[in-house]
Amino acid sequence: MKRLITTLTLLLLVVGITTAQRAKYVFYFIGDGLGINHIYGTELYNAAVHPQMPNQGRMSFSTFPLRTYITNHSSSSLVTDSSAAGTALASGVKTVNGYMGVDENLNSAKTIAELAAERGMKVGVATNVGVNHATPSAFFAHDKSRSNYLSLFEQLIASDVDFAAGSTILHKRSGKTPAELADVAREVGIEVVQDPQSAAKVENKRVMLLSPTLDEQALKYAVDCEETDPTIVDYTAAAIEYLERESDKNGFFLMVEAGHIDYCAHDNDAVTTFEEVNHLSESVQLALDFYAKHPKQTLIIVTADHETSGLSLGYKDYFMYPELLAYQRCSMVALTAKMRAMRDRGDTSWQSMVELLKVELGLWSEVELEAEDEKLIKECFENDFVNTATEVVSLYNHNEKLASVAIEVLNKRAKIKWVSLDHTGMQVPLYVKGAGLKYFGDCYDNTDVPKAIAEAMGTTLEN
Ligand SMILES: [Zn+2]
Repeated sequence: MKRLITTLTLLLLVVGITTAQRAKYVFYFIGDGLGINHIYGTELYNAAVHPQMPNQGRMSFSTFPLRTYITNHSSSSLVTDSSAAGTALASGVKTVNGYMGVDENLNSAKTIAELAAERGMKVGVATNVGVNHATPSAFFAHDKSRSNYLSLFEQLIASDVDFAAGSTILHKRSGKTPAELADVAREVGIEVVQDPQSAAKVENKRVMLLSPTLDEQALKYAVDCEETDPTIVDYTAAAIEYLERESDKNGFFLMVEAGHIDYCAHDNDAVTTFEEVNHLSESVQLALDFYAKHPKQTLIIVTADHETSGLSLGYKDYFMYPELLAYQRCSMVALTAKMRAMRDRGDTSWQSMVELLKVELGLWSEVELEAEDEKLIKECFENDFVNTATEVVSLYNHNEKLASVAIEVLNKRAKIKWVSLDHTGMQVPLYVKGAGLKYFGDCYDNTDVPKAIAEAMGTTLEN
């Protein structure tokens, strides 16, 4: 009898521990293009530029108990794109660049979000780029191309995603506008709203949160935001409020993509990138606030799909001056718009341009320029702004060459350099905290991450 009681006690103890450690609330943050230097660069920038920030401006996830790095090559290249990396992070399978939620033989791969839904968990997918862009789509869609936006959208509305958020519905080649596609979502019973507060309050219904204007970049870059502009932080807050209220004993799974990081890193716009990383950190802080209420049942993962543009912190002379970045007041995209407005009103004087660059980047006024920098900017002004309107075409933006050159000069003064306008094959960071942490210790590759999440949830992800 005594032996039976001991065995029963042990059994109860084991069950108790296992249940306690099971991840009931899963937060999966993906910084698109977020390399290790994007994170550390942001921390150096914060320490120099935002001294009032708590903890010297370190990331909210900087002290997670697991901090490691993972490989991220696709099956077609050592340098992945977001759809192959998204597929790996969502389904644990390697695939070809451009493929979406399918393996290299085009077989659909089950995603961790689909697995969560099967287990009765509520599911949220939020991003600050298009809701059917590559990274979010990796969690609900299966297609041979990341560019089949109509198909990705149709799969979203047919999926088990309860809360979907993004700047717009991407619609290229669909023959429909984002507003028309939003109506298609309404027809299947999804509540489509355009402000985070309303999205958070939707009850007993699926919800799709979009931006007020439905432009692809209607969610402004963090550096360009006014106090009232919605951001990924607001989207994350709305998702948590909705999922916390709507979920039952089975909990929820939330993927949040900080997608803008990739956009401005493709432009080589350091300040804009760092402020986007700050928004990711604030979003993770919301998950940490939730964790404080449910510490035994909450799992938080922060990782990236790939590194964008080969950011280098320092490049010669053994110095860095991140404090000089304090004077950049707007993104390269916003600076481009201001330059175009000047040209449109017929103002192409050098004096006006110097004024603009003083105000927006602190050039000359706060940041001393070497003769060669000034020559570079002046020549670019004459050749590419006055005589022609030359653009630098990056993956997502068409910027004025002069805006790109002026920001490159500022970055150079701060001793920050970029290798390219595209992705690199660098390993990416992985931070983990909370329930099921032990399953992540062996993560070496991005395909290991969703499998570890499944184990933390008490199941397995098989593909
Ligand atoms: Zn990219």
